[in-house]
Amino acid sequence: MSDYKFDTLQIHAGSAPDPATGAVQTPIYQTTGYVFKDADHAARLFNLEEVGYIYSRLTNPTVSKLAERVAALEGGAGAVCCSSGHAAQIMALFPLMGPGLNIVASTRLYGGSITQFGHTIKRFGWSCTFVDFDDLDALEAAIDDNTRAIFCESISNPGGYITDIPAVAKLADKAGLPLIVDNTLATPYLCRPIDLGATLVVHSLTKYMTGNGTVTGGCVVDSGKFDWSASDKFPSLSAPEPAYHGLKFHEALGPMAFTFHSIAIGLRDLGMTMNAQGAHYTLMGIETLSLRMEKHVANAKAVAEWLENDPRIEFVTYAGLPSSPWHERMKTVSPKGAGGLFTVAVKGGYEACVKLVNNLQLFANVANLGDTRSLIIHSASTTHRQLSEAQQIAAGAAPNVVRLSIGIEDAGDLIADLDQALSAATA
Ligand SMILES: *Cc1c(COP(=O)(O)O)cnc(C)c1O
Repeated sequence: MSDYKFDTLQIHAGSAPDPATGAVQTPIYQTTGYVFKDADHAARLFNLEEVGYIYSRLTNPTVSKLAERVAALEGGAGAVCCSSGHAAQIMALFPLMGPGLNIVASTRLYGGSITQFGHTIKRFGWSCTFVDFDDLDALEAAIDDNTRAIFCESISNPGGYITDIPAVAKLADKAGLPLIVDNTLATPYLCRPIDLGATLVVHSLTKYMTGNGTVTGGCVVDSGKFDWSASDKFPSLSAPEPAYHGLKFHEALGPMAFTFHSIAIGLRDLGMTMNAQGAHYTLMGIETLSLRMEKHVANAKAVAEWLENDPRIEFVTYAGLPSSPWHERMKTVSPKGAGGLFTVAVKGGYEACVKLVNNLQLFANVANLGDTRSLIIHSASTTHRQLSEAQQIAAGAAPNVVRLSIGIEDAGDLIADLDQALSAATA
């Protein structure tokens, strides 16, 4: 299967005809428990000596197909799906962290991630140091003996900034730490972080992967390449795991250690499980991922070019524009395009942004992105509202900018809608 190209994998990976019925489309296994053949079979499943279904909090046939497909598209060894993108972030950190330990993360993250890492994880005794990942010296200086992971987004929300993943991966390697990349905005069609040196990839499947605003879901993909036993920093994976009768996950399961730990302990004990119906919608969405991303990119380029040349606009952050400081980086990190999300600074500041949002007809004012339909939001008064103004600016969500998520409608219609709303906003 892994020899096939992306367009083939997005339809076929993880979806052999259903073994029970021969159905070609993956059925929704709306099921909870799975019968054991006998006591010995049950024991082997619980010992992870044999892979099979026990109970849907851990694994479900529909959800497993989705995990297999995302792993194939990302070039990973294994994957685990969970209930949301934010759940995926906790699931990715969970085997690595403990009280007193920290992560180093980019300042340019989705607003919700800045809140999750800046405040909420402290309740687990974890902490996060935020640094500008374009300052590699500052990044290196932020790593200390208690650091257990480095975290960034490939293309970052909301500004569409692109991270120099190969340079950050090199630094992570040198420090003996896993690099976790949130690949939500790029999707594996535009960017494959594992090929660029990432250890783990996390996704909000809620966005482009499903693509039509129907599902909340997440996924953690493991490259299978990190040597968890090279130091004593990752005892959950390298040493006997007390939460699983002393199993040494890395020794017993090799490149699948992280994935099995995430299922056998992460999902078992944290319970952030994806549901079968959601997984089915996401599987259907992924079948057209490359087609949608091509159109998202083409439309985003057309709209961004038009906006950049409009006198009512101060600047546009889209990395797909040759004027962007991230344009060169796009060619190595995200070669098929810079995605469909960017911000626009409107002359007239906060007030003009609010009026623009209120006057658009085709663009919906929605706190989501990666939908087939075009969406707009004023980040500073919504998704990034919990942040200080300095944090908003660092995250690319200053009060004078709006975030556009360009859909797959007709680009001319989108431009006409922006034109009339900008007139109303800046009159
Ligand atoms: C939306 C989003 C998340 C969180 O995902 P949910 O599915 O909403 O929990 C994380 N990272 C990025 C980049 C996002 O856009």
